[in-house]
Amino acid sequence: MTARTRITLLFTGITAAILLLFSAVIYFSAKENREQEFYSLLNKEAITKANLFFNAHVDKKTLQDIYHNNRQILNEVEVAIYDSSFNLLYHDAVDIDFVKETKTMIEQINQEGEIRFYQEGWQVLGIKHVFEGKPYIIVAAAYDEYGYKKLTNLLNDSLLILFLSIAFLFFTGRFFSKKVFDPLKKMSVQAKQISANKLNLRLPTSGSKDELDELSSTFNAMLNRLENSFDAQKHFVSNIAHELRTPLAAIIAELELAEQPGKTNAEYQKAISDALADARKLARLSNSLLDLAKASYDPSEITFKSVRLDEVLLDAIGLVQRVDRDYRVEFHFEQEFEDDQEISIQGNEYLLKVAFVNLIENACKFSADHKATVGLQFDSEKISLVFTDSGIGIQDADLPHIFSPFYRGANDRFTPGHGIGLSLTQKIVHLHSGDISVTSRQGKGSSFSIRFFRSIPSF
Ligand code: ADP
Repeated sequence: MTARTRITLLFTGITAAILLLFSAVIYFSAKENREQEFYSLLNKEAITKANLFFNAHVDKKTLQDIYHNNRQILNEVEVAIYDSSFNLLYHDAVDIDFVKETKTMIEQINQEGEIRFYQEGWQVLGIKHVFEGKPYIIVAAAYDEYGYKKLTNLLNDSLLILFLSIAFLFFTGRFFSKKVFDPLKKMSVQAKQISANKLNLRLPTSGSKDELDELSSTFNAMLNRLENSFDAQKHFVSNIAHELRTPLAAIIAELELAEQPGKTNAEYQKAISDALADARKLARLSNSLLDLAKASYDPSEITFKSVRLDEVLLDAIGLVQRVDRDYRVEFHFEQEFEDDQEISIQGNEYLLKVAFVNLIENACKFSADHKATVGLQFDSEKISLVFTDSGIGIQDADLPHIFSPFYRGANDRFTPGHGIGLSLTQKIVHLHSGDISVTSRQGKGSSFSIRFFRSIPSF
């Protein structure tokens, strides 16, 4: 069953139940009213006849004639009057005598003052009437034809209106649920068209700002993000392919050249060392890519423990200097510390070292003096590290992009690289709930600042 039909049936069912209850209440209260009203009519008739008989001394024959005449056109009330000893004083129609009074019945009326009951649809009322100090029993009976007709009409009308209302509710319910579900249907048709190759498609929006429109917009925003990340992925893969192709092409060309006959030993040696240098570049690139993949993990997959940042920094400096002996790094604390915790964060030692190595290497390789300065300071909320150099600096136009993967600034001619280092460093810093920023002036040098925030102040 479709949601549309389910909602229509539910809506119709609930409203029909309310209508049914409402009609039932009206019908039963009308039934009750009719009964009460007819008993009070019987009461009035009984008293009137008794008054005519006792007070006005209208003779029996006249009263019976009136009864018989009226009976032709309307359901006249049949009245019988007894004394308390069950002697019949007057009867409208002894020939008909619909209610067969008994001695016990008369005694019961005498005792209780009034009785009411039904006999074959007729309503019967027995009352005690006192005239000149003597008790008399009057029994009045009649069939409320007019009242029953009114009740049947009410029942028929209610059922008809109920049936028409249910039909009306069902069709209007279907109409409105169609109106509500149409946009959903359109969304589903359009969503079926969206695939990895057609990520540019979007769900229709009406601009009405209702819940469905909001759902479409949220879905479209998600598709935007997916499309961007697909594009970034494609871009990333083609960048990797491009970065790998250049050193590979160089290695192939160098080895092909060396393969040709008649080469001297010196030429062979040059070919081998050139190929080796390119192979090393490839190895560095693949290591960087592996680190980037690691840093892109879900943080929950990476092991974090308490690490002292000064120790990681010293390791990173050692690593950089082992690769290039010309690089000089100066490291200093901006203030004294008393406790290890003051300069420790919860982090992954390996990834932090990769980030620091990148920043130190950049500082050294982009400065003529190959010198980097690293300063560490802390307070109760954070630990800050600043990597400074007096190198060539970064152009203003490059500054917003240098953290993008594979982006190399206009100063890239100065030194080789792949443009992965800073994007990797930023990922690692973010993984450690930190931030990284840069200030740079062309020809004066650059300064990269990292802040690691402590979630709980430790002192
Ligand atoms: P790579 O160093 O391999 O080019 P990075 O991602 O480490 O890649 O850096 C991206 C770009 O940022 C560099 O190409 C360079 O233009 C600029 N850059 C980074 N660090 C410095 C620095 N200390 N001084 C000058 N330019 C820098």
